[in-house]
Amino acid sequence: MFFSIFLLAILPYIAHCACPTIISRSDWGARAPRQRTNLREVPPPYVVVHHTEDPVVCTTKDACKRKVKNIQNYHMDDPKHRWDDIGYNFLIGGDGNVYEGRGWGRFGSHARRFNGKSIGIALIGAFTNTTPSQTQLNALKDLLACGTEKNYIRSNYHMIGHRQEKDTSCPGDRLYNEISTWPHFDSSIRPH
Ligand SMILES: [Zn+2]
Repeated sequence: MFFSIFLLAILPYIAHCACPTIISRSDWGARAPRQRTNLREVPPPYVVVHHTEDPVVCTTKDACKRKVKNIQNYHMDDPKHRWDDIGYNFLIGGDGNVYEGRGWGRFGSHARRFNGKSIGIALIGAFTNTTPSQTQLNALKDLLACGTEKNYIRSNYHMIGHRQEKDTSCPGDRLYNEISTWPHFDSSIRPH
């Protein structure tokens, strides 16, 4: 009896530390990758944040699943890309869910200089003039906390926005301004 009360009392804290629900590739209907390559540095020392530049942020799981499928098709089939798989390691929907892209430990295709030593995470939406919802930002924070806790990301990782890797507006001014206030943000990285 005491134990079950104790368990109930600490449950919220356990839940807080747990990883967010990650919608698996099979759940969103991913195509098989042409090939998979592992990261060069494990656990990776960098996290690169992107936006997908979608003018509409999906707010339901069904809509976000469709969006993630479209992004995968675009990355794999568009002649400009023809990548092996969806470019990002993870995507975060406006529904607050994390969608598995290439996943942990995999070489991505999202920021050339960092693909072998980072986790690339894209927030679905366009964040030049709009700020992501708190739900979407919290999902990103939870995923990062989970990643360091499980050693999928180095505990002293450096976080950057895509624009610090090359000349691009990604991840949008508003999202960039937001992450630049977060503890692991590294302003010293510049495109070259
Ligand atoms: Zn980007």
